[in-house]
Amino acid sequence: MKTFARRAEDVLIVGAGMAGLTAATELAGAGRRVLLLDKGRAVGGRLASRRIGEATFDHGAQFITARVPRFAAAIERWQRSGVVGEWCRGFAGHVDGHPRWRGTPTMTSVAQHLAHGLDVILEKQVVALCRSLDRWRVQTNTGESFSARAVVLTPPVPQSLAIIEAGGVVLHPEARASLASIEYERCLAVMAVLDAPSRLPAPGGLAPVHGPIAWIADNQKKGGSAVPAVTIHAGHAFSLEHWEGDRGQSGRQLLDAAAEWLGAHVTTFQVHGWRYSKPVRSGERPCVIANRSPLLVLAGDAFSEPRVEGAALSGWAAAEAILSNPA
Ligand SMILES: Cc1cc2nc3c(=O)[nH]c(=O)nc-3n(C[C@H](O)[C@H](O)[C@H](O)COP(=O)(O)OP(=O)(O)OC[C@H]3O[C@@H](n4cnc5c(N)ncnc54)[C@H](O)[C@@H]3O)c2cc1C
Repeated sequence: MKTFARRAEDVLIVGAGMAGLTAATELAGAGRRVLLLDKGRAVGGRLASRRIGEATFDHGAQFITARVPRFAAAIERWQRSGVVGEWCRGFAGHVDGHPRWRGTPTMTSVAQHLAHGLDVILEKQVVALCRSLDRWRVQTNTGESFSARAVVLTPPVPQSLAIIEAGGVVLHPEARASLASIEYERCLAVMAVLDAPSRLPAPGGLAPVHGPIAWIADNQKKGGSAVPAVTIHAGHAFSLEHWEGDRGQSGRQLLDAAAEWLGAHVTTFQVHGWRYSKPVRSGERPCVIANRSPLLVLAGDAFSEPRVEGAALSGWAAAEAILSNPA
């Protein structure tokens, strides 16, 4: 990431997850001055990794798949750069021949690689988008404001709508209703450090058919953790039911449900809640132009597919919308 120097932006992108980063890369490559703002302490959004002592966890997206040639070509480039590697071609004995890519060493590596050379300011939460003649002005929770000729909002859609409405921007009622109808699954994610290797069979991930667990993975067998470290994702029903409850208690319930795959003592664990884990239904268009002059585009996995690939395709579509609609 470059050191940020304040100046007039062509495009301001809110969110440095996969959609924001791919949009920014494309726009910067076309010569646009681009600034990314993200509320997080690191880039990547739901491509997220966390450390507990010597243990390292991917606690958001677990692997990347490619169905579209453009994204497959991007993965090939990332592989040459050493930020992704093939994990496997299927789990629990169901080998289907389709590569599952993991970030090397962790899933955030891809986001960090994409952010290299871009202007990104972290720990800046955008709270409002206001119109100021032919430009947009975004305000942050720290009272700063940034202006640009075009804005791309990539947070989960309910958060993008809140930003738009806080600044008094009025969307077309049909467009607003369609955006407001986008729902997301929730996911409680447990990160547990073990005192011995888990019993999860190679390659170290499986999606149980019954019970509260949707996915369980061994980050050591996957290759990202120096010590035994297991990520457990609860399904939507369990996550919703326990969302407001005691996270420690929910974590212990999930660890009990995972006992047959752990086979070792849990020395410590943490629980993270993904309120906007995956969109339930994906949009028909890869991004939405919410306003043409000045240009406001909404992007993210909700407009494509609920996957890392979908977010990238949406980011590219947002960049194309801006490049083909000069302000
Ligand atoms: C538990 C889990 C498991 C998953 N597993 C897989 C998987 O195995 N394979 C797969 O392909 N996909 C998986 N996904 C989905 C995948 O992670 C997403 O589809 C993709 O990462 C979404 O990228 P995005 O850029 O659209 O959104 P995000 O990654 O959510 O990026 C949005 C960014 O906006 C920032 N932001 C939000 N609000 C503000 C604000 N007000 N101001 C500033 N910044 C803001 C956030 O900090 C974030 O960085 C999983 C997701 C989860 C949560």
